[in-house]
Amino acid sequence: MRLATVVSPDGPRLVVASTSGTGYVDVAAATGIERYRDLNALLIEWDEAQSALYEAAAGHGKVVEPADLAPAVPAPRRVLCLGVNYAAHAIERGSGVPSWPECFVRGPDSVAAPYGELRRPALSERFDFEGELGVVIGRSARLVRREHALEAVAGYVVLNDGSAREWQRVATQWTPGKNFDATMPIGPEIVTADELDASDLELTTLVNGEVMQHARTSQMIVDIPTTIEYLSSFTTLRPGDVIATGTPGGVGRDRTPPVFLKAGDLVEVSIEGIGTIANRVVDERPLDEPWPWQPLAQGSAS
Ligand code: ZN
Repeated sequence: MRLATVVSPDGPRLVVASTSGTGYVDVAAATGIERYRDLNALLIEWDEAQSALYEAAAGHGKVVEPADLAPAVPAPRRVLCLGVNYAAHAIERGSGVPSWPECFVRGPDSVAAPYGELRRPALSERFDFEGELGVVIGRSARLVRREHALEAVAGYVVLNDGSAREWQRVATQWTPGKNFDATMPIGPEIVTADELDASDLELTTLVNGEVMQHARTSQMIVDIPTTIEYLSSFTTLRPGDVIATGTPGGVGRDRTPPVFLKAGDLVEVSIEGIGTIANRVVDERPLDEPWPWQPLAQGSAS
């Protein structure tokens, strides 16, 4: 099944792609369960909800314009992100292949719609793309071994871990550079795990039609089951959590010369079997007054 969320006058609504190919079916309306207008509410009941979802998907759908798609996970509980999970990216950034997973967290306000505008923060001159596979959790998991880890997965999604590089590197923690509002487009749909083996999918990132990243998910240093096992060492993964599995080589910062995103650029991230997200970059409204926090003035070259 393919789950999406659409914008509506009364807020976001969860929809499922009709198996007849006619468009999307409103999940709450089709099931009569009003709380299923919200993805997180459905994920909490993932085991029981799936049969109702399949029934809804058998109905006649309505066509939705791409611009009306909301983030496929509109309010993730949190986004647990792996940094440096492809060897080519480790080498290009000069850090060496890590022996322990690099992990950081993005908050729910950092997501953006799959075909909406991508706002370059007014405080970033070094705004960069990172095409990645996202894993949506549908079942709680703590101390889960890799052999059983995929049982926690509801589905898979495409995301762009938009990064303000000067804010990422000005100090040792990455949180600011990875948390500007609405800098992580996610979608277009969640493909449920029963329909997709995500272990070896082609991933491509284009900027203005030019290939910037091209890799396979089988090239991850830490694969998806091991990532879930690792994260479950210290936290209970819960329905509505998203894992960003790290970016392949080819990011803008590490190119010669660097390629940072500017207004008008079109960033497209595609993953085989899931789909494509496509976002036009716009500039956030400039500040009226100089702002006291300027990482480049601190001498951060990266
Ligand atoms: Zn990333």
